[in-house]
Amino acid sequence: MKVCLFDIDGTLITTGMAGKDAMIEAFLKVAQLTELEHVFQVSGKTDRGIFAELYELHGKTLSEEAWHAFLDQYLGGLATNLPQRQGLVLEGVAALLAKLSQRDDVLLGLLTGNVEKGAALKLGHYGIHEYFAFGGFGDHHPNRDDVARAALEAAEAFHGEKISPEDIYVLGDTPNDVKCARAIGAKAVAVATGVFSIEELEAAKPDLLLANLADTEAVTQFIFG
Ligand SMILES: [Mg+2]
Repeated sequence: MKVCLFDIDGTLITTGMAGKDAMIEAFLKVAQLTELEHVFQVSGKTDRGIFAELYELHGKTLSEEAWHAFLDQYLGGLATNLPQRQGLVLEGVAALLAKLSQRDDVLLGLLTGNVEKGAALKLGHYGIHEYFAFGGFGDHHPNRDDVARAALEAAEAFHGEKISPEDIYVLGDTPNDVKCARAIGAKAVAVATGVFSIEELEAAKPDLLLANLADTEAVTQFIFG
């Protein structure tokens, strides 16, 4: 059995900043600040890691209580923002998911820095949540490599038996997606549909590098031969 683990933002969808803006608003509210004093990058990171980093950048210490308060604010803001922004399902994604879901030799899961409820809100809004039965999420781990390990465990729990690392494919849009694939011995498919260019992704040495997921045949040929 093969397993495809998909990143969300920049790989499956873009939310027109619905996510990042909800995150900033939630952080400012919980940290009791009026504006961000430092710029920060979200691509390839986990929600937990981003929030901890924001706290540190602003000279504050993250507590469990603050994390839960942040989550409540963030998920509320995300639900409000999603229908108001011009996001989209990225090119080729709908066709690829439809094709893969028809096969009985591959399982589709998520490997994302999003918290589980945030992932469900985003993918539900764009109508593609039902393709994914399990995943690794950004609720607990600041480091994406740990999310990859959680995704692998979730895949094996769903499948009911061990899955060989060479049968696992991580599809993502950042060097961190490639790196976390390596952490579990999986193959990495990188797509330049996020903020990283083809050249930047090439430096991370993915096994397959594509401009986008429009070429369904190229992806399925790589996975199934
Ligand atoms: Mg991404």
